[in-house]
Amino acid sequence: MRTVSPASSSRRRFLKQAGATALASLPITTRTARALSADTPASGTSSANAAIPNRTPLAPNAFYTLPLGAVRPTGWLRSQLQIQANGLGGHLDETWADVGPNSAWLGGTGEAWERGPYFLDGLLPLAYLLDDPRLKAKARKFIEWTLTHQAPDGMIGPSSNNDWWPRMVMLKALAQYEEATGDPRVIPVLSRYFAYQLKNLPTRPLRDWGKFRWQDNVLVVIWLYNRTGDPSLLDLARLLHQQGFDWKADFADFKYTQRITREAIKLNEGGGLKDMALATHGVNNGQAIKSSPVWSVISKDESDRQGIHQMLSALDKYHGLPNGMFSCDEHFAGQNPSQGSELCTVVETMFSLEQSLAILGDASLGDRLERIAFNALPGTFTDDMWAHQYNQEPNQVECSLHHKPWTTDGPESNLYGLEPNFGCCTANFHQAWPKFTASLWMASHDGGLVAAAYSPCEVRTSVGGTAVHILEETDYPFRGTVRLTVNPATPMNFPLRLRIPKWASGATIHINGKAQPGPSPADFARIERTWKHGDVVELAFPLQPKLMPGYMGSVSIERGPLVFSYPIGENWVKLQDRGMTADWQVFPSTSWNYALAVTDEDVGKLAVQERSVGPSPFSLKDTPVEIKVSARKLPKWRAVDGVADPVPQSPVTSDQAEEQLTLVPYAAAKLRITAFPQIQNI
Ligand SMILES: [Zn+2]
Repeated sequence: MRTVSPASSSRRRFLKQAGATALASLPITTRTARALSADTPASGTSSANAAIPNRTPLAPNAFYTLPLGAVRPTGWLRSQLQIQANGLGGHLDETWADVGPNSAWLGGTGEAWERGPYFLDGLLPLAYLLDDPRLKAKARKFIEWTLTHQAPDGMIGPSSNNDWWPRMVMLKALAQYEEATGDPRVIPVLSRYFAYQLKNLPTRPLRDWGKFRWQDNVLVVIWLYNRTGDPSLLDLARLLHQQGFDWKADFADFKYTQRITREAIKLNEGGGLKDMALATHGVNNGQAIKSSPVWSVISKDESDRQGIHQMLSALDKYHGLPNGMFSCDEHFAGQNPSQGSELCTVVETMFSLEQSLAILGDASLGDRLERIAFNALPGTFTDDMWAHQYNQEPNQVECSLHHKPWTTDGPESNLYGLEPNFGCCTANFHQAWPKFTASLWMASHDGGLVAAAYSPCEVRTSVGGTAVHILEETDYPFRGTVRLTVNPATPMNFPLRLRIPKWASGATIHINGKAQPGPSPADFARIERTWKHGDVVELAFPLQPKLMPGYMGSVSIERGPLVFSYPIGENWVKLQDRGMTADWQVFPSTSWNYALAVTDEDVGKLAVQERSVGPSPFSLKDTPVEIKVSARKLPKWRAVDGVADPVPQSPVTSDQAEEQLTLVPYAAAKLRITAFPQIQNI
């Protein structure tokens, strides 16, 4: 069904040489053992790796993120982080000058804006979560230069560029570094920088990118306030909010309900930086999803806490796509699943959801986070993470040089490569998997622990001064069972919260083999008891295939947090070598224009085939789960210029022969149909 062309096999050779072999040769047991031996001991009394709560007069969070390093990946998740480290994630500086030795963020004369901090913001947590000395050394170069080159007035970063925006990214990296290492230089450097910012913002206010991304700056201001209690930091937070774009008001009266055009947002005026262009820009919106929750910590205003839901429902209603994202290629692009989403928006939306989930404790944000993390994120990389797209489409029938259908992006946008269209995503993608890992578990405001999202991992933190270790064994999202072994150093009482996804009605919880009351979906199950070493909590989520309605009456199939797609035959053709990697076009080698013969009544009976979960779980070669579904071709549904026409309005009729399609997880199919027309009267 899927053809292997000479170009495709040469790609496989390239991929093999480039990376995944080191991982494949490392047995799972070795990887687990190495993680278990890391840093903090599992016994004794300790405040190590404990979350730091909000200090008065801030509003308390529902949950608090644990310090970087408290949650470590195991199982398939560790494999995935290792794939990133073996791919561009661990080698970008060796092949891309913008983050190479001449970076201005290393004291050189090269790139002096966002790319160095972007890279560091993901490289640093990757290095510490894998406990990888090679990666730590790379990250430390950037950290050391910034910490040792602060100007006497408090400014940080390259003197050749005084833009506030790239510093907002560096602040996030410095905070993570302090959490992972406790380096005593970080807090004084941040304190001096924020004093400089407070003094200078009145005469040099936020502009363009920084004005639309102020909440990322405020996030680290709050982080520092919780550590120092310096009241001037709250003045700075208020000033940043006052100078920043009012996202809450923008979404209270949301005007951008249509696919954006260059003319509508006056992209050709003001260097593309007019407010309309920036307010409809995908990455800005991805970052802004956290703006209302972050601000609510200071304002204590309930309407700020609710602002995120107003924003998400507008994005869903007018620009929502079946992979959990909203369209942005790179401005809002409507609900047509042939439109794209930029990788930077994917990773920033994930970070926003993680932070917002901590502040609000809203389970639905965890559902959305998982949908993006397990579908849109891996779907936009090659299996070995040596190449990525700028834009991915849910209905992606060809990746080639073409202008259609992007609102404002260029013809390279859905190629897999080093820096297709523009290099922001090349520098920025690194944060997604590591920060997702670090956010799997959180601390609760009432002194407990929270399973915020699910993946194999282990936690070493402390509760009320007592060390607690939790081992989470699971092949989620490919399987529905999660086994937690809770190991407090001494028996102790605390609440454990487990997120029950909205789709998981009928979920069960057992503790030491004993059934617990059935938990409510779309909420956290709270279990308070005296936990003792070796207590086992078993969660079982029913993974039933379901239909998800979409654009023009189309349907997509989901099973738990995974979205399923039809994998179109792929013919990979190298466009050009790019240093240690290459740019690729991908052409379809099979038909793709199918309509599904499935209804809400029979979707639950579709045949599901499960296989073992290997070290590259999102690859088509080793896909851990498939779903069979009946379909008929729909000849009138065509592609023009490499882009599928919008899904024909459902229901549709077809006189073509019925066929059985095998659907795979969205991320495995690099060419795919995800939103299908639905056949009438079957
Ligand atoms: Zn980008």
